[in-house]
Amino acid sequence: MNTASGDRLSPNAIRRVVIVGGGTAGWMTAAALSQHLRHTGVRITVVESSEIGTIGVGEATIPTIRRFYAQLGMTDAEVMTATQASCKLGIRFTGWSGAGSDFIHPFGLYGQDLRGVGFHHYWAKQRQTGDQTPLAAYSLGAALAFGGKFIEPSPTPPSSLSVFDWALHLDASLFAQHLRRYAEASGVERIDARIVDVQLRPEDGFVRAVTLGDGREVEGDLFVDCSGFRGLLIGEALGSAYEDWGQWLACDAAFAVQSENGPGMEPHPYTQVTAHAAGWQWGIPLRHRAGNGLVFSSAHMTDQQALDALMPNLMGKPLMEPRRIGFRPGRRDRAWVKNCVSIGLSAGFLEPLESTSIALIENGIERLKSLFPDKTFAPSIIDEFNDQSAREMERTRDFIILHYWLNGRDEPFWQERREAAIPDTLARKVELWKARGQFVRYRWEMFHPASWLAIYDGFGVLPEQLDPAVEGLDPGQLANSLHQMKASVAETVARTPSHAAFLARLDRPVA
Ligand code: FAD
Repeated sequence: MNTASGDRLSPNAIRRVVIVGGGTAGWMTAAALSQHLRHTGVRITVVESSEIGTIGVGEATIPTIRRFYAQLGMTDAEVMTATQASCKLGIRFTGWSGAGSDFIHPFGLYGQDLRGVGFHHYWAKQRQTGDQTPLAAYSLGAALAFGGKFIEPSPTPPSSLSVFDWALHLDASLFAQHLRRYAEASGVERIDARIVDVQLRPEDGFVRAVTLGDGREVEGDLFVDCSGFRGLLIGEALGSAYEDWGQWLACDAAFAVQSENGPGMEPHPYTQVTAHAAGWQWGIPLRHRAGNGLVFSSAHMTDQQALDALMPNLMGKPLMEPRRIGFRPGRRDRAWVKNCVSIGLSAGFLEPLESTSIALIENGIERLKSLFPDKTFAPSIIDEFNDQSAREMERTRDFIILHYWLNGRDEPFWQERREAAIPDTLARKVELWKARGQFVRYRWEMFHPASWLAIYDGFGVLPEQLDPAVEGLDPGQLANSLHQMKASVAETVARTPSHAAFLARLDRPVA
């Protein structure tokens, strides 16, 4: 595809894109660019090293993943079949406020506004009367998740009460393979070799080529660094510094282990995240196996303690030895330098909570598509990319910090997290929420107000002052409206088939 339809490019156009790395970031970028630049004559090459391999984790996603592959013409059924995926309606937090605490952050809305008053305002007002109905009872996404049910949302929901969204739990290596097939079928060239050097142009320091182990050079106009934590081009060759966010995000290591699905276990339609003494454990059910892992602070927990916390609590029998992965929360100071754009772990990483990393990859790709340069590499394009990337990472970081800062556990790690300073951008949000139950919205936010509401409520932080308009609502009518909404959600859940039944349909041969 890249060359078949001839060269329609202007003299300054980028003609050769080299993507360094074939992990989730590399193949997502290759697939998306090959589709976006089809019929242009731009050549795309992926250089990856099967010797080095990929990080191999990253199995929980958020709903934007479905928009990403839909743009490539892939259906949910196709991707779910190719990646052994299950459905994800949200994230279930267990033990984050101590024993017995449990809530879901769903991908969806809560309740309906009433006579112009936001749902959470009058729901909180109703709580003051002693009605302790949880917020989740008014969210179809949360209620389906708790019930182990799954149905695709209506494309034309009759009211906000039916609005929810879903994502996938997928096998990361199968996903990369699926994207690779797509990209190669679209003309992307793949080179399996180790890069041993990066050649910079003496006149301006732009990347000219990468040198492979056998001495070959792969030249390009634009390089996309998807080389993982190492940041082979963006960091090592071009010197973009790494901004460390360890003061805000204290977890810096994980053990990951794949297991069987427990006998008779039906995959739950949510990611399970369970708090431990100095971190948290994930449980991700796929159709052919489960993904498990413990994320922890190495300053508070030894490797052995982490393994002792993880291994007795797997979703089934282990299928491998647990693998330790160290990481440094933070971001690349400049995600784009000269003719090199970083996407994926090379651009930064927060931590696995809330599954933000693949979503940041999607947004990085969208940003690159919309700001795609020519060989002049206008500084305004690079500055805009860097500014958007930085803001988005900071907003996402703040959302993750919130989970730790609001925790209600007793161990030293958790006490420290509660007492730690938080960024001003987050403090402003929390103060407004407490003062008036409103949400500060910055540009380039990944998480919507309903997600912030889910976390505030999940940790029991309700506004001190509500919208005064709630006082104008008739108490009887208010109670009745809430009752009807709750009943409507419960009825839908009752008549929805199980998540397992939905997945079984995917496995059935088409008649
Ligand atoms: P990698 O997978 O590391 O790929 C790097 C590529 O570069 C490889 O192909 C490698 O061969 C190549 N390479 C490197 N050096 C060279 C060289 N010298 N020569 C040639 N090739 C080279 N994200 C989510 O969205 N959801 C999750 O649930 C989630 N869980 C996570 C859990 C943990 C513990 C961690 C650490 C991360 C998690 N992530 C998650 C993040 C997710 O794994 C990554 O965003 C995703 O896998 C993308 O990685 P990558 O492609 O940037 O890097």
